Amino acid sequence: MTKSSPLTTISMFIALIAAVVILSTISEKIWGGKPETLPEPTQLSISEEMTLKDFGQANGLTNPALKEIFSLQQKSDLQKSVSEYGTDDQIKFLVIKKLALVAEHETKNWKKIVIKFAAWFSVLGGIFLLFRKQKVSPSRRKITLLFSTLIFGIVLGADPSPMGTVKDAIHLFGTSGAIFPPRMIALTVFLLIVFLANKYICSWGCQVGVLQDVIFRLNQNDKYKAILGNQIKLPFVITNSVRIGFLVLFTLVAFLWGTDIIEPFDPFKIYKPLHLGITGGGFVAGLLILSLFVYRPWCHLFCPFGLVGWIVEKISLTKVSVAYETCIACRKCESACPSTVMSAILHRDKKAIPDCFSCYVCRDVCPTESIQFSTRKRSLPPVGHFDKSAN
Ligand code: SF4
Ligand code: SF4
Repeated sequence: MTKSSPLTTISMFIALIAAVVILSTISEKIWGGKPETLPEPTQLSISEEMTLKDFGQANGLTNPALKEIFSLQQKSDLQKSVSEYGTDDQIKFLVIKKLALVAEHETKNWKKIVIKFAAWFSVLGGIFLLFRKQKVSPSRRKITLLFSTLIFGIVLGADPSPMGTVKDAIHLFGTSGAIFPPRMIALTVFLLIVFLANKYICSWGCQVGVLQDVIFRLNQNDKYKAILGNQIKLPFVITNSVRIGFLVLFTLVAFLWGTDIIEPFDPFKIYKPLHLGITGGGFVAGLLILSLFVYRPWCHLFCPFGLVGWIVEKISLTKVSVAYETCIACRKCESACPSTVMSAILHRDKKAIPDCFSCYVCRDVCPTESIQFSTRKRSLPPVGHFDKSAN
């Protein structure tokens, strides 16, 4: 067992962040820079007297682009009046939507996306099968989280991400009315993973999720106690209210003003640090420092996928359950759980069960092996079960 000290934790934290920043910068250069940001809708110049050709010239649209946007059959259609295709507003909407989809397509590194999904399926599947029965020691958990940080974050970059599928879909639809089919497919895949195996994608595959998680674990000894300061479990009613309020605000601003309020502070940009401004860098640094003391603050307080995934988690086939026939009410699982999930599961009075990140800590500390991560139906503890508990 290694001796832990606050100084070691601080040093490891600094070394980890430095490694992520330096290696991600190198990785981004190797992949070659396709911009990973969303296109902003274009301001268009239009008047009733214009032909389609004039309209194209005024707005820098090529003939093939005009053909695609207006579904033209023949070249002579370029001489038709633009007003034949709708009112100014309808045409602007049509063009902006089409351009947004084209730009969206062009910002994607498709090769990287295919490799990343293949890596997600194989790595997450492997971890799921491996950890299903076996104990996950604290050091093994850290190594797995570091491995995921390296593969999904540093090597394969920030895009796509579970959060991006929700955030960018809302922003794109709010600004241009467009729905980008590949993103909806990715979101469906992520939600399917949640349906099948709880928040496994967040637990072991999300770039920012695993980074926050490993930072939190760096500040824990082998008994799941904080090494530096205290680790706080924020009440779920507060974190979830903030998260819901933030998603409503994000959606309203995207629809009303076309602005992506996450973009300047997006923590996924830790994997493309050259795109993080001073304000964004400050926010991300603060978030990562906070991760030493609070479990996954971004996931619990802000992440749009965190919220959507939490809703789908309610119908997940695989989840944590307790066999109360063998449970001796020692509440070691509750104390070791990094958030308030086990507390909510064990106590009948708590209604909403917070996000469970399938970390297996509760199962691994249980002295009677009463906790399972399986398809077993979750039951309520018998009345008075914990009254005799020493804690
Ligand atoms: S909740 Fe956390 S782990 Fe899940 S997508 Fe959001 S940032 Fe990633
Ligand atoms: S300790 Fe158990 S209940 Fe808590 S987050 Fe981890 S797996 Fe979920």
